[in-house]
Amino acid sequence: MNPLLDFSGLPRFADFRPDHVTPAVNELLAVNRALVERLAADAREPDWEGFVQPLEDANERLYRAWGQVSHMNAVMNSPALREAYNGNLPRISQYGTELSQHEGLFRKYKALRASAAFAALGAPRQRIVDNRLRDFRLGGAELPEERKQRFKAVSERLAELSSRFSDNVLDATNAWAHMVTDGAEVAGIPADTLDAAREAARTDGREGWKFTLHMPSYLPVMQYAEHRPLRETLYRAYVTRASEFGDPKLDNTAVIAEILALRRELATLLGFESYAHVSLEPKMARSPAQVAEFLRDLAARARPHALRDLEDLRAFARDRLGLAQLESWDIPYASERLRQARYAFSEQEVKQYFPEDRVVQGMFQLVESLYGLRIEADTAPLWHPDVRFFRIADAKGRLVGQFYLDLYARPSKRGGAWMDDAMARRRVASGIQTPVAYLNCNFSPPVGGRPALFTHEEVITLFHEFGHGLHHLLTRAEDLAVSGINGVEWDAVELPSQFMENFCWEWAVLANMTRHVDSGEPLPRPLFDKMIAAKNFQSGLQMLRQVEFALFDMLLHDNRGEPAESTVLDVLGRVRQEVAVVVPPQWNRFPHSFSHIFAGGYAAGYYSYKWAEVLSADAYALFEENGVLDATTGERFWREVLAVGGSRPALESFKAFRGREPSIDALLRHNGMVAA
Ligand code: ZN
Repeated sequence: MNPLLDFSGLPRFADFRPDHVTPAVNELLAVNRALVERLAADAREPDWEGFVQPLEDANERLYRAWGQVSHMNAVMNSPALREAYNGNLPRISQYGTELSQHEGLFRKYKALRASAAFAALGAPRQRIVDNRLRDFRLGGAELPEERKQRFKAVSERLAELSSRFSDNVLDATNAWAHMVTDGAEVAGIPADTLDAAREAARTDGREGWKFTLHMPSYLPVMQYAEHRPLRETLYRAYVTRASEFGDPKLDNTAVIAEILALRRELATLLGFESYAHVSLEPKMARSPAQVAEFLRDLAARARPHALRDLEDLRAFARDRLGLAQLESWDIPYASERLRQARYAFSEQEVKQYFPEDRVVQGMFQLVESLYGLRIEADTAPLWHPDVRFFRIADAKGRLVGQFYLDLYARPSKRGGAWMDDAMARRRVASGIQTPVAYLNCNFSPPVGGRPALFTHEEVITLFHEFGHGLHHLLTRAEDLAVSGINGVEWDAVELPSQFMENFCWEWAVLANMTRHVDSGEPLPRPLFDKMIAAKNFQSGLQMLRQVEFALFDMLLHDNRGEPAESTVLDVLGRVRQEVAVVVPPQWNRFPHSFSHIFAGGYAAGYYSYKWAEVLSADAYALFEENGVLDATTGERFWREVLAVGGSRPALESFKAFRGREPSIDALLRHNGMVAA
């Protein structure tokens, strides 16, 4: 049997082969399309059980199967799988477009909305119906036939281009490597990075060190390599990935131009002023102008801090490092040196206290005590020997959810860290289907017989993704479309994840999740105090950088009245002039690898990180007031925020938890931007 068509339990990764993909997609699409036609043609008045439920069931099967394919494509990429994925992706997206434009289904949903049965559905299901109607409109369901065809073609092409964009970034990242044989050129680089670089060279049958553009190699070189030309070489390669400066086959320039033109056309077809307006329609923010105002307000508050950060860094680089002119490839290096000089510790020193097992256990214990849960190792078919699987049970031992943990970087895995859902909580005929999540990171694997060691930054990343995972896993919703992260506004979806990051700065939490890899000692209090002092190091610069990306994204997509010849780089240049204090070299091609907005669903949505951070900081402030490990506050957060998922507007959930409207104060305070 095709494992992708087995819905009796957990995904059967051990049996999965790329040649299962097309037959499974064929089967599911045929079954679903037949069902859709049957439901649309049904003469009876639509109700939940006879109309919505069977459709949800069928779509769940398709997206559960396809979710496994796209997950494997992201974590175990191979030429055969990529071909199967890319070959079927347009078919999946075509089916999605068909559904979202299906006049028969649209009519049924409208009839359900107008029926007497609607009032009896209960708020979550009413919200699902209303969201569907909105999505029909955004999916082009109200368009006349001719324009509907064009809309469909544009949507399919956009899906292809996104996939192409991300393949180009991955291929360009993988295609580049730099060999060093002179020991003098690797001075300053930490030993574990050098070990990994030596192993990589040996795998190629060579002596010396092989550096790549993957984070575990790239970042330590940028932060620690004393040899300036080495930093420049890697920086230049990194920021020109998938651009006109590399392999023409991997150049994203034309891909970006076509994506933007098609998004603009799509907005025009739907009768919106710009693609930014389309993007904001289902979000918490009301308009591009409101978002731009929010970002410019943040920029104005951060700017004096950023200017002071930069002045300090320039003076330090000039006086202490002999760098008269601070270049882009000097910034991470000089910053790390300044941090060490000012706070007398390095990330490397801190890293020795964060071995993988201790960090993971400490994170689990935190969640167990906050929410009264138990997290234990569990078994499931896995896709790689490094992956682990866990189960979460409540205080009474009942299964709440399960998750996979895939922590290490490898060449077949796309970069970054992310959570994805394998199964969602919902009520089915046999009872409650419990949720299952994938947690993926790109940390350095263990080297030379020692456990994997995480930087504090990586620990924060892990907490962040686990926060997304808990949002998915601790839901109490019983309908798929509002279960966990489903149905949550994009710009509120980072609330539970960024909320979790705060715990990485609490002594009560860190004392329990650190152990020196050699001595076994927990993190010393004086070192923790230095970390806290260093926490807001360059927070002004970092805030401005995020605002720069977010404003670039918003203005790029809110291009009303923009002259046609205006290029992406012009928009970026204008944004930088307005908000940035550090201007990178002319040849920097940051947009060409900005996968969030060209391949990741964040188009006119990158501001969401900061938007949600206002919410997460303010939510965490209630824990600061009541005690950060306070289980009563934890229970309330679970009940009002995590449990409800998308079943009500995020603003309502926030207010139910906090007892008032969100305030920006906690975010500014956490970033050291207000007088204490
Ligand atoms: Zn996130």
